Amino acid sequence: AGPARSARTVTRSTCCYCGVGCGVLIESEGERIVGVAGDPQHPANHGRLCSKGRTLAETARNLHGRVLQPELRAQRHEQRRPVDWGLALDTVSARLADIIERHGPDSVAFYISGQLLTEDYYVFNKLAKGLIGTNNIDTNSRLCMSSAVTGYKLAFGADGPPTCYEDLEHAKTVLFAGSNAAYAHPVLFRRLEEARERDPDVRWIVIDPRRTDTAAMADLHLAIQPGTDVALFNGMLHHLIWEGWVDADFIAHHTTGFDELKQLLRDYTPRMAAEICGISAADLITAAEWFGRSPATLSLYCMGLNQSAHGTDKNLALIQLHLATRQLGRPGAGPFSLTGQPNAMGGREVGGMATMLAAHRDITNATHRAEVEQLWKLAPGSLSPRPGLAAVELFEAVRSGKVKAVWIACTNPVHSMPDIARVRDALQRAEYVIVQEAFRDTDTVPYADVLLPATTWGEKDGTVTNSERRISRVRAAVPAPGQARHDWWIVREVARRIEARLAGPGTGPMFAFDTPAQIFDEHTALTIGRDLDIGGLDHARLEADGPQQWPFPSGSRQGQARRYADGRFATADGRACFHVTPFRPVAEPISARYPLRLLTGRLRDQWHGMSRTGRVPQLFAHSPEPSLHMHPDDAARRGLKAGELVRVASARGELVLPLEPSDEVGSGTVFAAMHWSGQFLSSGGINEVSQPATDSRSQQPELKHAAVRVEKAGFG
Ligand code: SF4
Repeated sequence: AGPARSARTVTRSTCCYCGVGCGVLIESEGERIVGVAGDPQHPANHGRLCSKGRTLAETARNLHGRVLQPELRAQRHEQRRPVDWGLALDTVSARLADIIERHGPDSVAFYISGQLLTEDYYVFNKLAKGLIGTNNIDTNSRLCMSSAVTGYKLAFGADGPPTCYEDLEHAKTVLFAGSNAAYAHPVLFRRLEEARERDPDVRWIVIDPRRTDTAAMADLHLAIQPGTDVALFNGMLHHLIWEGWVDADFIAHHTTGFDELKQLLRDYTPRMAAEICGISAADLITAAEWFGRSPATLSLYCMGLNQSAHGTDKNLALIQLHLATRQLGRPGAGPFSLTGQPNAMGGREVGGMATMLAAHRDITNATHRAEVEQLWKLAPGSLSPRPGLAAVELFEAVRSGKVKAVWIACTNPVHSMPDIARVRDALQRAEYVIVQEAFRDTDTVPYADVLLPATTWGEKDGTVTNSERRISRVRAAVPAPGQARHDWWIVREVARRIEARLAGPGTGPMFAFDTPAQIFDEHTALTIGRDLDIGGLDHARLEADGPQQWPFPSGSRQGQARRYADGRFATADGRACFHVTPFRPVAEPISARYPLRLLTGRLRDQWHGMSRTGRVPQLFAHSPEPSLHMHPDDAARRGLKAGELVRVASARGELVLPLEPSDEVGSGTVFAAMHWSGQFLSSGGINEVSQPATDSRSQQPELKHAAVRVEKAGFG
């Protein structure tokens, strides 16, 4: 007989990839994860998983390439050497405290991640804003959904979608805008497919310059010119007003600002709007009618709207279609932004961005600051009133020397930021770079002066919030490998050391928590009385009753599936706000030198920089290698053949990719996936050429569009 096998254990948790937030059952044997299945009891997925979720076990059991011990170097030119945790923590806290004492709190910055758990996010935020006194803490969620945040706040007075996943089954018209949900949110897409199979009257409109797999299944695909979404939505609303298909009573009693918008919309006749968008006026009118006359219209939108220099206006213009027709507040109707990352929503809740305070409070609001100071037991006036640096400006400030030290956790900015040559340059120039990571093979790790080994999915405990405001538990199935430690623990340890050195007399201990459950309790206390009140939740309640949606105030029996059903919004007067949303073109127009429009997006089976999915051979079967999609006519005109290496160049940089002729893109447009990084290519990925223009209100960069030229690579 062979050696006795350890007993198998099943741990209920949540998938670590996208914002759908599917429940999973992790099967483990001793210290090894051996299988992952969908959780039939989780309301997001009812047992389903997509290709990425199904292969989580393979990614988790492979420790090759994991960071398993702290490493540091004394000088930039040296190799990092392994050290113990005590030395690593003492060095990090001493260096940060020293820089703060010499240059002030705003000389340090934190760049964190929508893949951290809410509890991790909370502790980082408290360290930066509460202890150090800087608002320079931003996250890769800035690249993902900050335009959705500003859209919701400006229209409804508060962040967060008013909708829930059950609306997928009730909607009669589904409008996808800048969302390839078939790839990016596959389990939600499957729910939509099943709803349409049950009800043949359900109609799908897809707005996307590319014929994605989602667009290929649409009843109406509007292949607009990149960046013209606002013109389209304005034209649709013009037509709905003209035909009298808006809800005049709702507009009069529950909104403000409609007359000013109406003035603007006079110019957006269907013909004029369609001309800007490069589609037929008849298709625009059809879309408007399906939208406005449907018993329930649900809009699903994502990076195609958010990753834009006019992302806030794109969000607003779409939300305004819903407000004017009262397509919200009832089953199957409403604007529904889909978050890319598993916990972008949780980061928003704890205020883990440079422009926010905890529980959807604003940094610039003195009352909000005073509330947080009181709850964190800080002296009045302790919190900085200056908004911190958002992602693009944060790395620019590192580059210029204004920020001396940057702490990067659970994210890979040398792959994901626009114009990455400048980010590389920034990290080279920085006085001190801390990288907290689970994986060694990222493009950012080589810049680390200190590398702190973090635990990752399957090893961590806490909570995440998915796209429908549902908070789910994430649970550890196996112990931390090597000397890896939980993100919140690492931050707490550094914070306690800095606190001992910097904090003045009379300040109580700020980091007196020993478990994620205690951190969650502090977080919920800050939400009481706010729009996202979760005073009725704690880890024990989530254990007993399963995942819950916010708001969930104390005394609640369940969370709220839909918001604003009574027509009362979160603004001071309770009315939703219309805004004037003129169409503005993309930040970087094409030119004779750069005549093609570059679009970026996701592959079906990969995730972000592939540090996890890149470990699973079967996930390469769908798209085995990187490529540049170009319309066959454009390729023929340039004498380019399938598989030939081409140089993609913009005003900022270039990279080389194999050419893939494809009529999924229109003539004049090319497409490349965002996953492939310097770990796979001789250059960095597609962000070598993307451009860093940002939306003035959301500070989200226009990762979806750049002007480029394409030519034979011409080696040798
Ligand atoms: Fe994970 Fe998203 Fe796939 Fe669900 S849909 S299994 S959350 S990647």
